[in-house]
Amino acid sequence: MNRLVLWWRKAVGSFCGLFNPYLTVRQIEGDTLPKSFPKNQLIYLIDDGEGWSAGLHCPCGCGDILEVPLLHDASPKWRLNIDSKGRPTLHPSIWRREKCRSHFWIRGGRVYWC
Ligand SMILES: [Zn+2]
Repeated sequence: MNRLVLWWRKAVGSFCGLFNPYLTVRQIEGDTLPKSFPKNQLIYLIDDGEGWSAGLHCPCGCGDILEVPLLHDASPKWRLNIDSKGRPTLHPSIWRREKCRSHFWIRGGRVYWC
């Protein structure tokens, strides 16, 4: 895709992001993501008392659901922090190598494009 279109999509995306509700965390016991969940929800999968995976809709609007591993021995892996208001922060950033190639951070429940 050409760079201008990509830039435009990100500019519009972050602008619209200001009006989106914060991402909220829903904790689910089990090992699979629900078939469908709201766009502003980040699913935190817990198995045996340990959070091991997080799932969310790709914020670019492509419709894909992204799943990031949180287990200590996974590679690559992410760290999920949930603040006192229930807003998630994911570290490091999410960078999709295929399809929409979105690259963004989730901090305090907000999406920040790189
Ligand atoms: Zn996408």
